Amino acid sequence: MNPSLQDVKAIQIRVGGNPPHSCVPGVRVRDALSDQGLLRVGDTVAARFNGRLLDLEAPLFEGGDLDAVSVLSPEGLDILRHSTAHLMASAVRELFPETKIAIGPAIDSGFYYDFDRPEPFKPEDLGRIEKKMKEVRSRNPSFDRVVLSREEARALFREAGEAYKLEILDGIPDDSVSLYKLGAFTDLCRGPHVPGTSWLRAFKLLSVAGAYWKGDERRPMLQRIYGTAFPTKEGLQEHLHLLEEAKKRDHRKLGKELDLFSIPEDVGPGLVCWHPRGARVRTVIEDFWRKEHDRNGYELLYTPHMAKIHLWETSGHTGFYKENMFSPMDVEGQQYLVKPMNCPFHIQIFKSRLQSYRDLPKRWAELGTVYRYERSGVLHGLLRVRGFTQDDAHIFCRPDQLEAEVARVIEFTLFVLRTFGFQTFDVYLSTRPEKYVGSLENWDQATEALRTSLEKLGLPFEIDPGEGVFYGPKIDIKIRDSLGRQWQCSTIQVDFNLPERFDLHFVGEDGERHPVIMIHRALMGSLERFFGCLVEHYNGAFPLWLAPEQVTVLPITERAHGYAVRLVDRLKAEGLRVESDFRNEKLGLKIREAQLRKVPYMVVLGDREAEEETVSVRTRTGENLPPMTWDLFLRRVKEEMQTRKTGAD
Ligand SMILES: [Zn+2]
Ligand SMILES: [Zn+2]
Repeated sequence: MNPSLQDVKAIQIRVGGNPPHSCVPGVRVRDALSDQGLLRVGDTVAARFNGRLLDLEAPLFEGGDLDAVSVLSPEGLDILRHSTAHLMASAVRELFPETKIAIGPAIDSGFYYDFDRPEPFKPEDLGRIEKKMKEVRSRNPSFDRVVLSREEARALFREAGEAYKLEILDGIPDDSVSLYKLGAFTDLCRGPHVPGTSWLRAFKLLSVAGAYWKGDERRPMLQRIYGTAFPTKEGLQEHLHLLEEAKKRDHRKLGKELDLFSIPEDVGPGLVCWHPRGARVRTVIEDFWRKEHDRNGYELLYTPHMAKIHLWETSGHTGFYKENMFSPMDVEGQQYLVKPMNCPFHIQIFKSRLQSYRDLPKRWAELGTVYRYERSGVLHGLLRVRGFTQDDAHIFCRPDQLEAEVARVIEFTLFVLRTFGFQTFDVYLSTRPEKYVGSLENWDQATEALRTSLEKLGLPFEIDPGEGVFYGPKIDIKIRDSLGRQWQCSTIQVDFNLPERFDLHFVGEDGERHPVIMIHRALMGSLERFFGCLVEHYNGAFPLWLAPEQVTVLPITERAHGYAVRLVDRLKAEGLRVESDFRNEKLGLKIREAQLRKVPYMVVLGDREAEEETVSVRTRTGENLPPMTWDLFLRRVKEEMQTRKTGAD
């Protein structure tokens, strides 16, 4: 036994769930893990001690639970990336000593650091900074934690002229703060960090952009350098490849190239104009949506785009949703607001007559266009906009119907998403937040109903504790696109708030009034967003049933024009979206252009086809089908449309 254990009171540490183990106070995390065989070289980057993340070098003075954190875990990856941000800042300071530093956190797919420098960084500076980072790394410095009193830290950063760090210090209530030194570079930081720069083997700086200090337009504009880092070179390569792919299929770029939509400056930021080719796709989506809602027991509603302010006061929107609404307009001395949501309108229809228990559930759906104020800085193509159409529905039901209705909505959602070609879903159940309305009993019941529905459907889900909306628990279904990226689309929310605010009730079997339960749900979320997601998922090559131009007819010679006109008419009569190219151009050029438009089928017509009443078909993937009769071609196309085949199969 270690003799010192007899002098000082040992601390009890449970490592990785093993039985408690006596250690000397001040034992380093690294040694405590290593003693129990839980320090994996090249993998264990930090540790979790009683719920807190710690450096491997940190000393332990109290007992508790200790676990290794793998560099491959989400926390481990964050530590690696944030450490790379320090390395980047140290390189920036060596190259551009006049630079002031602000903050440098890890983010979803990498990290950034905000710098203040009179001269903006140029894209070519990124290469220089990267090179300097490698140079710093080759000196193999370690990340050393230093604890100072707040005053000592203030003095240090004041002397260095680091105004942003001083401002951050002002916001820290603790008496002492930690700093991390990496060679000559010191940063105010809570940690933890990788032990040394040898861990930072695979990183890449990606871009530079302006960012306001603390996101506040009134504060200085800083320069944000984005980068990413991975534990392995292979991981980094894979990610960079994915970024390249994502850039190629950015819906804003494809939207322009394929002439699908625009967001004209003269109309206003975040306000989308659908061009004919985009509108054709949207029409198909809407027609499908209406037909399937009808089949699933929904009724359709139409409601106005604005309503008296009083309605929004009753719903509570003028209180809790004020920041997201546009200013009121005055109509004959009465204030009106443009709608950010459709719910209050559906409620008015529900209240237009007495509802009996026999009338429930009511499933009412609307493709409702809503307007929400978003700061111009966060607008992004079709994904964050100011005006959009929700595929909204509200289900008014009795408490005993809740579970079945939720299950029904989930099944319907999955059917719709699968039809559009999505196969992988991440499902989240969000429970009661700290601030909430409604009784605990109602919350428990509703949360149970959501959980039971998911379980009965055998759908794996994660619980997001406390992430429900203040008015009720919810289920979010996120889709994974063809690049494996996650998109938030579907949401199913139980609401106790609006039924109470609007005094919604039904007359029960007993002749008494009973409160109604309301479910808000959207399957695609917003048509704009969903469309943007489809464009990127399919890289603009929509499956046949969605394609804005399904077939293009290309006569090779003028002699085939008459024959081509007849075919175009026939295909149109069959309900296909057909275009043709009668220009006096080379066939190769016509085919190339049709390929750029990502048309699924190109029908090439020459003398032989005209004579034999056949068609020669080329697919957009470059496959040449043997000559076939009109009927055979039509049968093929129609079958593909009916089964709504996606590009993947
Ligand atoms: Zn740090
Ligand atoms: Zn709603």
